[in-house]
Amino acid sequence: MILGIETSCDETAAALVGGDGTVLSSIVASQASLHARYGGVVPEVASRRHLELIGPVIREALETAGAGLDDVDRVAVTRGPGLVGALLVGLSAAKALAWARRLPLVPVDHLHGHVASLYLGDAQVEPPFVCLLASGGHTLLLDVGERGSFRRLGSTLDDAAGEAFDKGARLLGLGYPGGAEIDRLAREGDPEAYTFPVARVAGLDFSFSGLKTALLYAVRGLDADELERRRADLAASYQRAIVRALAGRLREAAARSRAGRIAVVGGVAANSELRGALPDAAFAPLALCTDNAAMIASAARYADPIPYPDYLALDAYASAA
Ligand code: ATP
Ligand code: MG
Ligand code: FE
Repeated sequence: MILGIETSCDETAAALVGGDGTVLSSIVASQASLHARYGGVVPEVASRRHLELIGPVIREALETAGAGLDDVDRVAVTRGPGLVGALLVGLSAAKALAWARRLPLVPVDHLHGHVASLYLGDAQVEPPFVCLLASGGHTLLLDVGERGSFRRLGSTLDDAAGEAFDKGARLLGLGYPGGAEIDRLAREGDPEAYTFPVARVAGLDFSFSGLKTALLYAVRGLDADELERRRADLAASYQRAIVRALAGRLREAAARSRAGRIAVVGGVAANSELRGALPDAAFAPLALCTDNAAMIASAARYADPIPYPDYLALDAYASAA
């Protein structure tokens, strides 16, 4: 049994996963409402909240799985990329637990964790496949040849797709985080009401900053009443542009690859229009798209554990290696 711990951003999460990828428990304490009034994650506030939540969240993960620390064979934890102060809370907790029990520790890269959300539960995906990772901080196309490794085919030149959702939501006066809000509101709007440009970038890269500016100009031309009336149309059209860019590039990458199969992971993989636009793609289960610790434990099944007690000096890292 693997105990996974994730604290890279504003979710405090712990999970227990069996060696076969069965999710025995996955507890996620979101701090979203705490950060909502600032319109984004405040690093110092996040670290302090992680510190308050990490103990209770780990305890709840064990209780839900009907397990004790004696049942844990290794501890997996996100080492980066993310907010360093936030990461250090999870990393320190993981080290302390592993050290106290003389267990091995597996440091996990958060992006590998997102990909490994496909290796959980009953519908496990087998490589090779081309994977779109679209989240709050990253938008990547990955060539996944085997579990535990990937090659980068393309990435965003500016904003991440989730960031585009969040910034768009802000312009529309919706709450934070904005992806789920736009998703919900878009269902009431006409996705063809506005034509927002999808940047054509060379190769397999993405760009979302122009789209955000286009929305800014569209919103700027409206008074409060008009914005109220057009909000759903704007949300639907904006979402359509992001989904077109993501789905289009993923198909291009797949056409160039020998893999054939396609998959989507990360918070934006929860988007209902994206899921509908790619009926042939493998998606992570909805609850495991946004940050969670089950995906971290999952990735740990395909990484080398560091034996007791060699991991005590391990440090967190802020940006992708
Ligand atoms: P990273 O993984 O890059 O470090 P992160 O961990 O903050 O970033 P995730 O938790 O994987 O990101 O995803 C959060 C992002 O997903 C947010 O930007 C949020 O708006 C977006 N998101 C969540 N649900 C939806 C949805 N239904 N539609 C579109 N976007 C969504
Ligand atoms: Mg989050
Ligand atoms: Fe993430």
